[in-house]
Amino acid sequence: MAKQNLLGCTLSELEQLMIDLGEKKFRGGQLFKWLYRDNQYDFELMTDFSKDLRKTLDEKFEFKSLELIHMQESEDGTRKFLFNLHDNLPVETVLIPDFGSERKTVCISSQVGCAVNCSFCATGQMGFSRDLTPGEIIGQLIYLRENFGADAFSNVVMMGMGEPLANFDNVVKAIELMLAPTGMMLSRKKVTVSTSGHSPKIRKLADTGLNICLAISLHAAIQEKRVKIMPIAETFGLEKLMQAIRYYAEKSRTHVMFEYIIFDNFNDTMKDVHALAKLVRGLSCKINLLAYNPVDGLDFQRPSDDKMNWFGGQLAPRVPVVTVRKSRGRDIDAACGQLAAKQRLGKKHNV
Ligand code: SAH
Ligand code: SF4
Repeated sequence: MAKQNLLGCTLSELEQLMIDLGEKKFRGGQLFKWLYRDNQYDFELMTDFSKDLRKTLDEKFEFKSLELIHMQESEDGTRKFLFNLHDNLPVETVLIPDFGSERKTVCISSQVGCAVNCSFCATGQMGFSRDLTPGEIIGQLIYLRENFGADAFSNVVMMGMGEPLANFDNVVKAIELMLAPTGMMLSRKKVTVSTSGHSPKIRKLADTGLNICLAISLHAAIQEKRVKIMPIAETFGLEKLMQAIRYYAEKSRTHVMFEYIIFDNFNDTMKDVHALAKLVRGLSCKINLLAYNPVDGLDFQRPSDDKMNWFGGQLAPRVPVVTVRKSRGRDIDAACGQLAAKQRLGKKHNV
């Protein structure tokens, strides 16, 4: 009989598993610690279990992360991993080291493809296949710890493939595993969910009390422009979105981060600077400017470095914090969904 994979199981699920095996409930807590905190996936080495229990666990269960099919390393040290799920769907994860600091950020996926269909995004162009399970979300992190050690990453951002808030329950379960004090033990300040702006779900996330960091893919501060590139803006207009964001910021007491991709000759004028500054007025936040990363077959243009710096310079005195983010891993298609999109279209990876 095939072994049951415990990847993604919560504390209460492991407690129930132990009860079903005729053991005490607290054994579930011990197993939880071994798997998520101590990165020990070999039941035989779980020394506080009896020999019999270890044998039973080994016979019936396993803790297996994801199957890697491709890895690319960029000149700047960014590594991109492409995994194959049990139903042959591709999912990608990007590990971004920050030179000069201990910080290593891992960008994980929450869905295969994405239904939001933003017009500039490679993942959006793939369409939507399915939600990732909590095991498949957390499995991206477990793979890295298994292969690169406990300090493989320090920060987690849900900025890979998919819209995390459209897979709300599974994403919340995965975040609970990341934050669990006897689990992966990540601080809430080191976990970020990025969303294209589903206002009701932003409020729902605030109500979970997880208080993790929130990033908003804004990309335009003028409603008519935003609608042109992000269909979700038709349903959740900027006004409603900003109300939900303010609610999140107040409830979770965190700074919100706004992602603003600059597309050449689209959202890069003084009018856009003023609209953006007005939109975030009074909100404790950070604005991250990034250049559009060209996607095959799409019509947008990448702005010049001068344009990026000009926009940042105009915005800086008008908002709390602004950063101009360097594009990382550009030589390996490290922008959202690019590698998996190529995989699907049967194109060759540029290694
Ligand atoms: N769906 C979520 C999280 C995943 S997208 C969201 O949209 O926030 C991760 C980030 O990559 C988003 O900010 C997205 O807008 C950005 N992105 C997508 N395509 C891009 C491109 N071609 N160039 C630069 N950034 C891109
Ligand atoms: Fe989906 Fe985010 Fe890409 Fe939009 S930017 S299509 S929400 S993954």
